[in-house]
Amino acid sequence: MSRFWNPLIKKLVPYVPGEQPKIQDLVKLNTNENPFPPSPKVLAAISAATGEGLRLYPDPDASALKATIANYYNLTPDCVFVGNGSDEVLAHTFQALFNPERPLLFPDITYSFYPVYCGLYRQAFETVPLDEQFKIRVEKYDGLNGGIIFPNPNAPTGCLLSLDEIERLLKVNTETVVVVDEAYIDFGGESAAKLIDRYDNLLVVQTLSKSRSLAGMRVGLALGHPELIEALERVKNSFNSYPLDKLAQAGAVAAFEDDGYFQQCRDDVIREREALVDRLSAMGFEVLPSAANFVFCRHAERDAGELAAALRERKVIVRHFMSERIAQFLRITIGTSQQNSKLLEALEAIL
Ligand code: PMP
Repeated sequence: MSRFWNPLIKKLVPYVPGEQPKIQDLVKLNTNENPFPPSPKVLAAISAATGEGLRLYPDPDASALKATIANYYNLTPDCVFVGNGSDEVLAHTFQALFNPERPLLFPDITYSFYPVYCGLYRQAFETVPLDEQFKIRVEKYDGLNGGIIFPNPNAPTGCLLSLDEIERLLKVNTETVVVVDEAYIDFGGESAAKLIDRYDNLLVVQTLSKSRSLAGMRVGLALGHPELIEALERVKNSFNSYPLDKLAQAGAVAAFEDDGYFQQCRDDVIREREALVDRLSAMGFEVLPSAANFVFCRHAERDAGELAAALRERKVIVRHFMSERIAQFLRITIGTSQQNSKLLEALEAIL
């Protein structure tokens, strides 16, 4: 059949998402979901939005949600874009905001979806190596480029850049769009959203999948100058004018409104992370400093692939990447204290 395919599609190497196993009794620490359920107010809002009204199309502008997000970040609604998960928001960013003929710059190592989008949208790119401590060096992002994108904190390392460092990068890159992918920012960093009024080429992308426990609902957003947002809206309206269904719009509004619940879950995840870092370090792991809801670590003596397989036999799943430079690392999502204890018990038995 592939003789009918666009030749470009034949060459595409698609992104492979982390495993979503069906078995219920696994300790699932492989895809950075939040271990806590969404706010009860989110569930109530979704229930209230369901019913006979679903026969009608949702608000194509997601106006209530944009107003809620704008209010949360002290911006105006024309600075807000929403989409079906931040992966879709990122796809629209590649379609609308980068110069495909000049190299897009992103770190090596980073979120492995970026090169996939480059393949799909014929975007030239160059990777910029991390330093020996696996940190992004902002001074290396200079010269002619078609745009810049990096997660903050970076994935899968968890290492954070300060807003000062991001500003240093913005000051030398004023002619192309700089995207800060803040999928994990709530677990220990400061959002670059507050820089938007000073840098009209800055786009901040966020998701409700991690710190707001809504990976299953698929809501992502972008914050930036109204001109950037308008370009994203043009692409969206040429693709799918209803990216967010009614239930997701209602649930996402409630998620931003229940700030108390959000803060409590976030603080619990951070506390669990610090406890896990201590225990892993005591077991002989080197753990990179993490500002995310996961840790990236390697053991002084044991092979990471073997450790991941041995953990799996004990019904604990963590992420092991095949890519050469990080093949000795495991990425472990922060779970509840019970889940983390099961992970540590399994590791004690293995090591
Ligand atoms: N950016 C980064 C850095 C991520 O790790 C992820 C999660 N895989 C995403 C974006 C996408 O998240 P979502 O599509 O669930 O919003």
